[in-house]
Amino acid sequence: MASLGIPANTIAVLQKYNFTFQKKYGQNFLIDAHVLEKIMERAQITKADCVVEIGPGIGTMTQYLAESAGQVVAVEIDRALIPILQDTLSSYENVEIINEDILKVDLARLAAEKNGGNPVKVVANLPYYITTPIVMGLFESGMPLDSVTVMVQKEVAERMQAKPGTKDYGALSLAVQYYAEAQVVANVPPNCFIPRPNVGSAVIQLKRYQEPPVRVQDERLMFSIIRASFNQRRKMLVNGLANAPGLSFDKEKVRGALLSMGLSENIRGEAMELAQFAQLSDILAGKA
Ligand code: SAM
Repeated sequence: MASLGIPANTIAVLQKYNFTFQKKYGQNFLIDAHVLEKIMERAQITKADCVVEIGPGIGTMTQYLAESAGQVVAVEIDRALIPILQDTLSSYENVEIINEDILKVDLARLAAEKNGGNPVKVVANLPYYITTPIVMGLFESGMPLDSVTVMVQKEVAERMQAKPGTKDYGALSLAVQYYAEAQVVANVPPNCFIPRPNVGSAVIQLKRYQEPPVRVQDERLMFSIIRASFNQRRKMLVNGLANAPGLSFDKEKVRGALLSMGLSENIRGEAMELAQFAQLSDILAGKA
């Protein structure tokens, strides 16, 4: 099977199988060899690696991954793509295709079964409609993870690596940065895909921290506080938290906690760093 990283070969495969794109699955296939090479260069895959690919499509990136990795496990939801993948990947013995919804896969078990519980690398051109649940699922699943190198919508990449005080900074930035060091690798225009998406794209790499950069007693509480702080962006933190469903802190308690941290009682969530959310969470839990 010829390399799919050029438009003519992708079109030939699509025609051969009379494939119809499913918009509901976020299907925009990569057709730019430079972008594929850039992803591979950054992902640093070796024969020692087990790679999990989410949404292989017709197997374009899977071919690149199979060349470099020891093993590739590709999870694809669209049943119509399975016979195509069996064809385009027929010359590789180190690829396993799983016809599943990635959001329903037990990721920790997958890594245990396929890689003896050792850290896997995730590489993907993600379906944009479920980027956040996929990325959070990867981190929260307990799956041993080395890095996540993925194509996402450009705005989402910017939010993932945003710093406090910027317009893109929010709950997603804090969640991603608690688990990983985030770095945008490349911006990718719509003409690198077929069909063209309506939005710009970017490749981002998230390198999993061995230990989170901040210590917090109760991770769940901290993330509840973070979500509540950004639910109403323009609100002062004191008001956001005091009215939040699921949290039982009154205004006085939040105000007292902020003042004890040397912060203004008028501060908004967007001005707070991860370490400050961790400290606030510990104080409010009575554990600081
Ligand atoms: N990797 C291919 C490429 O780069 O050309 C395709 C990328 S396309 C943006 C996203 C892929 O994810 C599609 O193949 C789509 O069918 C698949 N997909 C969508 N939702 C999924 C889900 N919940 N679980 C697994 N795969 C999914």
